[in-house]
Amino acid sequence: MSNFQDKVVVVTGAGRGIGKEIARQFAAAGAKVAVISRSEASCQGAADEINAESASSATGGSATAYALDIADHEAVQAIGKQIVSDLGAVNVLVNNAGVTRDGLLMRMKDTDWDTVIDTNLKGAFNTVKAFQRSMMKAQDPRIINIASVIGLMGNAGQANYAASKAGLIGFTKSIARELAGRKVCCNAIAPGFITTDMTDELPEKVREGILTNIPLGDFGATQDIAALALFLAGEQARYITGQVIACDGGMTM
Ligand code: NAP
Repeated sequence: MSNFQDKVVVVTGAGRGIGKEIARQFAAAGAKVAVISRSEASCQGAADEINAESASSATGGSATAYALDIADHEAVQAIGKQIVSDLGAVNVLVNNAGVTRDGLLMRMKDTDWDTVIDTNLKGAFNTVKAFQRSMMKAQDPRIINIASVIGLMGNAGQANYAASKAGLIGFTKSIARELAGRKVCCNAIAPGFITTDMTDELPEKVREGILTNIPLGDFGATQDIAALALFLAGEQARYITGQVIACDGGMTM
C-alpha cells in the first residue's frame, strides 16, 4: 500500500458510506484528511471515529471535519481556503458527495433535477475551482471523482442521477486534459451496487433484481471503492489519467 504520510486529502461526502471509508483508509495510510459532509454531526462523528482509530494504531493520520453544502459555490471557496490554511496544499481531492432523487421523468419535479445536478456535478466543479491552484503546487496531485455505472448505462427512474454522473465523467476527462500539463491526474471511479445508506433505501424486490445482473453474484462493499481510490492516488497510478474505472462485480463489462 502507498504511504500517504503528511499528504493532504480532501474527501467530500465523508460523513458516512463510501466517503467515510475512503477517508478512513487514507488516514490509516498516514494522510491528513479533510472530512466534508452536509451536517456537522455527520462529519464530526466520522472525524472523531477516524482520529480514535489513528491514535490507537499510531499511523500518524488525522481527520478534520468541515460541514458545508457542496453545491454552495461561495461556501466551498471559503472552506477551501480554510482547509489549505489548516492542513496545507491539497495532494488528493476525492469528489464523492452525491444524492439521489429518483422517479420517472413524468413525475420528476424540477427541484429533484436541480438538487441532484447541483450536488453531484456542480459540487465537483466547486471543489476543483477551490483547490486546483493549491494542487498544482502539491506533490503527486490527484483528483478522483466518484461517478456511477448509472452514468455509463442510464437507468429508468434515475434520469437526473444518470445525467449528473455522465456529466461528471465528461468533466473528469476534460479536466484530465486541462491539468495534465501540471501533472494533476484525474480519474473517475464508477461503482456498481455498493451496500450503504443510499442503497439500503431501495425496496427488497429492486435489490434482488439488481443482483441478477451482477456476474460476481454479490453487492460491493465500501472497502472495495476505497481500495481503488487509494490505488489511483498512489505512486503506482502515476501514468493513469482521464480514465473511468468500474468497480461493479462485472455489471458493465
Ligand atoms: P450516502 O451513504 O448517502 O452518503 C452520502 C454522503 O454525501 C453523506 O456523508 C452526505 O452528507 C454527503 N452529502 C450529500 N449531499 C451533500 C451536500 N450537498 N454537501 C455535502 N455533503 C453532501 O452515499 P454513498 O452510497 O456512500 O455514495 C457515495 C457516492 O458514491 C455518491 O456520489 C454516490 O452517487 C456514489 N455511488 C454510490 C453507489 C452505491 O451503490 N452506494 C453506487 C454508485 C455510485 P451527510 O452525512 O451530512 O448527510
